[in-house]
Amino acid sequence: MSRFWSDAVQGLSPYVPGEQPKLPDLVKLNTNENPYGPSPRAIAAIAAENGDNLKLYPDPNSDRLKGAIARLHALEPAQVFVGNGSDEVLAHAFLALLKHDAPLLFPDISYSFYPVYCKLYGIAAETVPLADDFSIRVDDYLARPCGAIILANPNAPTGRALPRAEIARLLRAKPDAVVVIDEAYIDFGGESAIPLIAEFPNLLVIHTLSKSRSLAGLRVGFAMGHRELIDGLERVKNSFNSYPLDRLAIVGAEAAIDDTAYFDATRQRVIASRERLTGKLEALGFEVLPSSANFIFARHPGRDGAELAAALRERSIIVRHFRLPRIDQFLRISIGTDAQCNRLAEALAEILK
Ligand SMILES: *Cc1c(COP(=O)(O)O)cnc(C)c1O
Repeated sequence: MSRFWSDAVQGLSPYVPGEQPKLPDLVKLNTNENPYGPSPRAIAAIAAENGDNLKLYPDPNSDRLKGAIARLHALEPAQVFVGNGSDEVLAHAFLALLKHDAPLLFPDISYSFYPVYCKLYGIAAETVPLADDFSIRVDDYLARPCGAIILANPNAPTGRALPRAEIARLLRAKPDAVVVIDEAYIDFGGESAIPLIAEFPNLLVIHTLSKSRSLAGLRVGFAMGHRELIDGLERVKNSFNSYPLDRLAIVGAEAAIDDTAYFDATRQRVIASRERLTGKLEALGFEVLPSSANFIFARHPGRDGAELAAALRERSIIVRHFRLPRIDQFLRISIGTDAQCNRLAEALAEILK
């Protein structure tokens, strides 16, 4: 606290991201990064842009990148919004579309940035408990009055996916509420809501290049929806920062989006490793929630979650543990290379002995 801070700042509870320690020989499975690195075409595009051009401002509207995203998903460029990571896109969506008199609904266990944005923008919010198996029950949302809804699908940190038909049922029943679907992990196995955009003007779908495109360091995310929703986001963006994407981010993201062969090959490798690691952890007695993401969420019936995370850390393996109600026995483990997954499984076998 400081007497120099505004009242608004005194009341904030900032998000704490997973740590980025710089230790040698670390197996870093705590922030859902992709172990395979970005497309070589993205790296080449960034290298080619990295020169005298940087004296000039970037395109404030990132039109070429929006064009590439629109082509990929069979949308109009006017149905695409881009930002400095999907965290920034989410922040603008909270202010532009999710702040109403009636409360914003989201699950009690979900991306922990959502309540942070609510504090920042003074948004009335209500959490809806997940079912005992940690799935989202659409009926619980239908039963409550609300101003808007945001769901991560697959959900974080559970990894569980909601079928597209369930999202359609929600959109149909709540035609006057904006429904944001945060699809940060959708490329690892869930059903995207993008095909519903044409039918539902209240749907906004948000993607990131940080996970499936392995560009967490470039900071690019985007939203897709009816142009009325996109225009609302553009109004906030143009009241905040004209150039959220720099020149390197624009060209790198465009090349990564266009390189569908590399994208498919690397995400399939992650999915295959996830299934192998799930089997290994189940053999060690873990309960592993069914994951459609690039991480798994697992607990051991006989061993404390915090204790397991600490024992892994002693072996230079970092996973994420949340000291939060309902999930404090779980470990969230990002899917690394097979070699990293093996080291994790071997360490857990040793710890459990
Ligand atoms: C990682 C993540 C994001 C943020 O991604 P960035 O584009 O890196 O800001 C958003 N939502 C969820 C659910 C995430 O897990």
